[in-house]
Amino acid sequence: MLKPAPLDTDAQPCAGINLLDFDEAGLVAVFEGLGERPFRATQVLKWIHQQQVTEFAAMTNLSKVLRARLAESARIPLPEVLLEKVSADGTRKWVLSVDARNRIETVFIPEPGRGTLCVSSQVGCALDCQFCSTAKQGFSRNLSTAEIISQLWLVNQRLGALEAEGADPGRVTNVVFMGMGEPMLNFEAVLAASNIMLNDNAYGLSRRRVTVSTAGVVPKIDRLASESGVALAISLHATTDALRDTIVPINRKYPLGELLAACNRFLEQRPKGDQITYEYVMLDGINDSRDDAERLVRLLDPHKSKINLIPFNPFPQAAYTRSQPEAIAAFQSRLQAAGFVTTVRKTRGDDIDAACGQLVGQVAARGRKWRLAADAGTHRTADSGPVGA
Ligand code: SAH
Repeated sequence: MLKPAPLDTDAQPCAGINLLDFDEAGLVAVFEGLGERPFRATQVLKWIHQQQVTEFAAMTNLSKVLRARLAESARIPLPEVLLEKVSADGTRKWVLSVDARNRIETVFIPEPGRGTLCVSSQVGCALDCQFCSTAKQGFSRNLSTAEIISQLWLVNQRLGALEAEGADPGRVTNVVFMGMGEPMLNFEAVLAASNIMLNDNAYGLSRRRVTVSTAGVVPKIDRLASESGVALAISLHATTDALRDTIVPINRKYPLGELLAACNRFLEQRPKGDQITYEYVMLDGINDSRDDAERLVRLLDPHKSKINLIPFNPFPQAAYTRSQPEAIAAFQSRLQAAGFVTTVRKTRGDDIDAACGQLVGQVAARGRKWRLAADAGTHRTADSGPVGA
C-alpha cells in the first residue's frame, strides 16, 4: 500500500552538510569549519565531481580520521532518477525526483563533436511566458546548488556507464541553463553550480561553454557580468515593448531598452570577441513578419550578437503555432544579410517531449493541484503518494 504524501514537507529531512551544495570556495569554508586545511576541499571536489565517488570510505587520500568525521557530519545525496527516455535522434531526457512532491527534467543533446546538457534551475517557473509549457505548470521552488550540479553529475555518470557498455551516447561538453525555470531568479545557486562546472578540479568546462539563459532579469545580468565568466543568452522573442509585454511579461518590469542596455554593459566586462546569444521563438503571425526582422536588425549589433531562431514547439493548451518554414527562412535571410550569425535551432527530442519549452517535470505549486507530466505510469497523483513509498 502506498502511504499518503506528507503534503507540507518539500525538504528531504537528512542530517549533515550536503557537500554537493558548495563550489570550491564554499568547500574551503566547510573544511576550515572542521579545523581542516583548505586543500582538503580540492581533494573532495575531485573525488565527487571527477572520480564520481560519493562514499567517504573510498576517498583514500583523506586521513582515516577525516573520512570517519565526514561520514558522521556530511553527505553526498543525489536525486532519484525516475525515468530516462531516449529520442530517435539520440536526445536523452531524465526525470529526477528532488523531493516527495517535485520533479524536474534534464535533457542531453548529442551532436557531432559536442554534447549539450540543458539543466533546470527551478521547479516550475514564475515568469509566465505565454508560449512556454513550464510556465503553465506554475512555480514551486528554487533548486539548490546540489540539485543543479547533480543533473550534470548524474548525466556524466550515466553516459560513462553507457560508453563502458560499448555504446556511443556522447559526452557533455556544454551546459545551458535552458531547462525548467528562470536561472537569474535563483542566482546564488546557479552561480555556485556554474563555478563547479567551470572549475578544473571538477568539470573544467570552458566559460564559453556554460550559458545562462534569461528572459531578462536586468539587475542579475549586471551581477553575472561581474561575478562569473559564463556566457549569456537572452530570450528576446519580440522587437517591440507592446508585444514583449504580452508574451514575456517580465518585460513590463524591465523593458527592451533597459534589457539591451544591460546586455551592452555585460559585454563591456567581457573579453573582446565575446557575444550574447539572442533566442527568438518563431510564432506564426505573431513575431515573424518582415517588419519584425527589420526591427531586430536595428535593435542588435551584429558584432556583439548571435541570433538563434527557435521554431515554436507546441504543447497541449498552447495558444500559438509554429511559423511556416518559409517565414523562418525569410527571417533568417534578412538577419544574415545584415551580418548577423543566425542559426535556426533544430528541434531535437520532440518525440520524448524534450524540446525547448516542453519541459514540465512535476510541480507542487502552492495552491495548485499536482500537475502530471505526459509520462503516465511513472508519475502518480497526489492521492497515491510519493514515488517509491
Ligand atoms: N527562463 C530562461 C530559460 C528558459 S527555456 C529563459 O527564459 O531564457 C530556454 C528557451 O526556450 C527560452 O528562450 C524560452 O523562451 C524558449 N522556449 C520556451 N518555450 C518554448 C516553446 N514552446 N518553443 C520553443 N522555445 C521555447
